[in-house]
Amino acid sequence: MQHFPIFLDLSDRRVVLAGGGDAALAKLRLLLRTGARITVHAESPAPEIAAWADAGRLILHRRRFAAGDAGAATLVYGATEDPAEDARVAAIARAEGALVNIVDDLAGSDFLTPAIVDRSPVTIAIGTEGAAPVLARMIKADLEDRLPAALGPLARIGKGFRKLAAALPHGRARRAFWAEYYDTAGPRALARGGEDAVRHSLGDLLDSHLGRAPSAGHVDFVGAGPGDPELLTLKARKALDRADVVIHDRLVPAPVLELARREARIIAAGKQGFGPSVRQDDINALIVEHGRQGLHVVRLKSGDPTVFGRLDEELDAVIGAGLSHAVIPGITAASAAVAALDQSQTRRGRNAEMRLITGHDMQGYAEHDWRALARPGAVAAIYMARKAARFVQGRLLMHGADPATPVSIVENASRPDQRILACDLAGLDATISGTGSGQPAIVLVGLAPREAARSTARLSPQLEALS
Ligand code: SAH
Repeated sequence: MQHFPIFLDLSDRRVVLAGGGDAALAKLRLLLRTGARITVHAESPAPEIAAWADAGRLILHRRRFAAGDAGAATLVYGATEDPAEDARVAAIARAEGALVNIVDDLAGSDFLTPAIVDRSPVTIAIGTEGAAPVLARMIKADLEDRLPAALGPLARIGKGFRKLAAALPHGRARRAFWAEYYDTAGPRALARGGEDAVRHSLGDLLDSHLGRAPSAGHVDFVGAGPGDPELLTLKARKALDRADVVIHDRLVPAPVLELARREARIIAAGKQGFGPSVRQDDINALIVEHGRQGLHVVRLKSGDPTVFGRLDEELDAVIGAGLSHAVIPGITAASAAVAALDQSQTRRGRNAEMRLITGHDMQGYAEHDWRALARPGAVAAIYMARKAARFVQGRLLMHGADPATPVSIVENASRPDQRILACDLAGLDATISGTGSGQPAIVLVGLAPREAARSTARLSPQLEALS
């Protein structure tokens, strides 16, 4: 063990970082989770860094790191992606008494940043002494499973092979090689013929990767679920773990984004019902542009990407650009909302169908088959219902719905701040007007919370009292 793992208390400590590009961003995302006082030196910082500075989360100096800048710093990061400049930073920082890390330079660093699984207060740190960054990511992804016993010898043999693997272009091609080695080729060879077979398999694998055409780029349309990261599918987790770029909508919360590969670029492409938004054409172009660079793009959409997500327009753009793609479904908000009520979406003798409807579309309030929705026993989940609540209520009553029809409003379904409000159709507009307007909510017409859900709601301060 050359590098001894410790857990450093960074609260109120000074941490200085030189650099303003992708390497700096990846480190800052981690450091921002601590209580450190962060200072960044960058002549042309990425917009994210400037935004963090504006938000008071770090101090930004738009000039090079210089003598005197590491005074009283606990840690200094050289993340300029320029070896000569990083070495200059390291020399100054060491002379001023700080511990130094140079991104992607094991020999030039006093300490390494491990791959981190963050489940505060439990934190798992994974280091490979620089032998195999891709291995560290795989362990992070697979921690839920037991660790395969073969990882030790595979990493040792792999480390000895790194010079040869440098024949592959840096980045995605090399990552794909190591991923296949650690994922399938290595463990299989080890099981078949021990360490000698592993050495052989590495040579064969390298030949086959050297013979491959440069990758064409791929887009996964991934359902992020309603917000609870545990409601992601395993396929979604895997896609996030391989992503080069994650383009997400406004409703995908931070705990889900944190599961993306650490080096992945995270791009917010938010759209809001009536608010400020990124145009759909711009989102389509963003996806295609990154796919064309040969990257693995994850288009992360809240809930299920096939439900009120304008998936077809994005699919058309991706298919039109000749990129490969896959749609990975997710748990839609209505499923999470109904589960929160301890109810089911369909019930024998009550409803043999449940409609997913939208409160508004691009033209304004959306019209539906109100007569069918107004029938006794009908159940509908209304998305984007906040602004349309009065309209929906009026339409249903006009078509003969019973004013006493049960209605449940589930705000922030599956998230720590989930709230359930129960009312009847006559009280829908008044009830929803009294709730937080920026929060996503589903209105379930025809469903009341089951008694158990009601009493849990009363006991839990997180769930609002039910009327
Ligand atoms: N594709 C998404 C829906 C996108 S439309 C899905 O399958 O869930 C956006 C609407 O979804 C919001 O206006 C809100 O009505 C609903 N929504 C999304 N996440 C939600 C959540 N966690 N709780 C309640 N409603 C949610």
